[in-house]
Amino acid sequence: MALFEKMGNIESPQNDNKDMAETEKVKVLIVGSGPAGYTAAIYAARANLSPVMYEGLQPGGQLTTTTDVENFPGYPSGITGPEMMEDLKKQAGRFGTDIRFGMATATDLSQRPFKVTVDGNKVIEAEALIIATGATAKYLGLPDETKYAGSGVSACATCDGFFYRGKDVAVVGGGDTALEEAMYLAGLCRKVYLIVRRDVFRASKVMQERAMNTENIEILWKHQTKGLLGDGVVEGATLVKNMGTPEEEEVKIAIDGFFLGIGHKPNSDIFADYIDTNEVGYIKTVPGSAKTNVEGVFACGDVQDDQYRQAVTAAGSGCMAAIDAERFLAEQA
Ligand code: NDP
Repeated sequence: MALFEKMGNIESPQNDNKDMAETEKVKVLIVGSGPAGYTAAIYAARANLSPVMYEGLQPGGQLTTTTDVENFPGYPSGITGPEMMEDLKKQAGRFGTDIRFGMATATDLSQRPFKVTVDGNKVIEAEALIIATGATAKYLGLPDETKYAGSGVSACATCDGFFYRGKDVAVVGGGDTALEEAMYLAGLCRKVYLIVRRDVFRASKVMQERAMNTENIEILWKHQTKGLLGDGVVEGATLVKNMGTPEEEEVKIAIDGFFLGIGHKPNSDIFADYIDTNEVGYIKTVPGSAKTNVEGVFACGDVQDDQYRQAVTAAGSGCMAAIDAERFLAEQA
């Protein structure tokens, strides 16, 4: 019972400190609200764990920035990303998940209960913690990326490539992500420009060979993107070749889609003092489970997945995290 007790403001007769953070004890805290977080919430709520979820700055996660989702099983006619996230949220709420708007800003996972500070002014003490904070695709930082968001700019070829069948597109980047996106798009599109800022790839040799041997991929070495063109939707891009050299020149290409493939950043910074990550920040989980190196802390979705990054795999790992959390709490009882 005590696990669910709301403590409210901590006040003591000796020290009535108005700045002291509000503290609340919960059994299971879920941080993040993409398909992984909502699925973890559905399972945890149905297991009577009364989960509390903080949605983060972008409730619904990355899928709320895509248009149609056509590859999630169970939607034969497709569904928009925002609608799917709204459905998942309703389903999580239906079983009693306490879904709140708020952003985890700091953690202390040195001992149980784990302490997670929300919005800098409230501390949640959790017996088990599920991290579902996702990853954020990196963008170049051009104003045009925002201007044409959802109208020709995408950071996910698997999600959006289908809409560019038979058309010309560009992919930015020279790493495995970009080459994988380019190869995927090459199977759908008429032509794929690969915009690489240096004269070498960063990608693995095998991917380099595949990309270079694909007829409809044209590699634009030493090109950088200056801006996008088009009346409401992307119709072209302005590139700069040999930037900063005497040979610098402006190049325009006609494209319908502009894909970013310059990497993702897992949102793991606030856990990094306690939770093991790989060299680029993806949380390490014990294979075949959602367990992290800290007992009682579980991770699911893109924050721990640098391989698949799909809504359906995220949802599957959210289910694993909730079941692992349930078993962990049962062992503690
Ligand atoms: P990487 O960091 O490996 O590559 C990023 C690429 O984007 C580089 O070519 C980089 O150029 C370029 N880039 C970065 N910033 C800019 C910018 N502002 N403008 C233009 N170009 C830019 O990221 P990835 O996401 O490709 O890969 C991350 C990790 O995940 C790697 O270890 C990779 O091997 C792995 N991965 C594995 C896959 C697989 O095995 N199937 C699939 C995808 C990723 P530059 O080289 O000049 O820095």
